[in-house]
Amino acid sequence: MRLSPARRRRTLSWLLGTALALTALTVTFRPALTVPGPQALQAGADLLRQRTVLVIVGHPDDLEWYVGGTLRRLADAGAHVHVVVATSGENGPNRTRTPDLPGTRQREQLAAARINGYARVHFLHLPDRGAARDPRFLPAVQAILRDVQPGAVLLFDPDLPSLPYLHADHQGTARAVLTAWRTPGPDRPAVYLFQTRRPDTATDITRVMDTKERALAQHVTQNGGNGSGMRALFGGRSVGVRHAEFFRRLP
Ligand SMILES: [Zn+2]
Repeated sequence: MRLSPARRRRTLSWLLGTALALTALTVTFRPALTVPGPQALQAGADLLRQRTVLVIVGHPDDLEWYVGGTLRRLADAGAHVHVVVATSGENGPNRTRTPDLPGTRQREQLAAARINGYARVHFLHLPDRGAARDPRFLPAVQAILRDVQPGAVLLFDPDLPSLPYLHADHQGTARAVLTAWRTPGPDRPAVYLFQTRRPDTATDITRVMDTKERALAQHVTQNGGNGSGMRALFGGRSVGVRHAEFFRRLP
């Protein structure tokens, strides 16, 4: 079939437009350290000296995927790692076709928590894809904050997220918490944002990479029991180590 010249021009300009848009997206979202590597690692060492840490995520498996290595290292150093899982991830996927996906995912999260050494998992049981808008979310988080008194809080980066995956329960929950802290006060703990494209903090997770994978593999409904495949995403070459997790610390 031959395309008419007009049709060919349209197809060409569409292809060019798509290529330009993809390039712009890649350039915009490309993660890039904002400080020299050694400085980022030094800031990561400061984070790893925290004694009590609270992490807030949307779903079971977010913790192990994004910050599992850092949390294992904190636990190894004797820190109390508290985690808040806003939803039970009932929207799936459901690779094992379990009839009780929320219950199964909570059990998977608890199994991962044992491997990674969390002090406590706080499940909020809010609706998947609706956690950030739910009026119960902030009061529940505030009650946990009062109770746990963390020195540092770890959240998704809502303002400068890196690709490839954005989700209302990820950036949305983080935005809700940060909005409540719009004015940093003496009561606000240090805040570290992950899945960020402008990191200034890096933790060396090389020696706990196997544990991170094993913890992630507990989420069988999500990955079929295979936690590998993400090693390449946590390469630490930019800071001179084999594997790293990256954060943006709020001033
Ligand atoms: Zn998630």
